[in-house]
Amino acid sequence: MLLKIIFIFLGAMVLIALIGRALFPSALPRVLRKRKGPPVCDSCGRYLIGRKGCDCGGRAK
Ligand SMILES: [Zn+2]
Repeated sequence: MLLKIIFIFLGAMVLIALIGRALFPSALPRVLRKRKGPPVCDSCGRYLIGRKGCDCGGRAK
């Protein structure tokens, strides 16, 4: 009976992790994310560190 509860608990944890990953990929640590590099401006190609937008008005990729 106790084993069953443990397995159900583990299953629930895995399910929550999978759902969380599907819904909030940006909330994951950087190690788990598949990123090719720092965010780069879409129009001028400058690196955008700590910002969402660029001075030229472009958006980060
Ligand atoms: Zn730019």
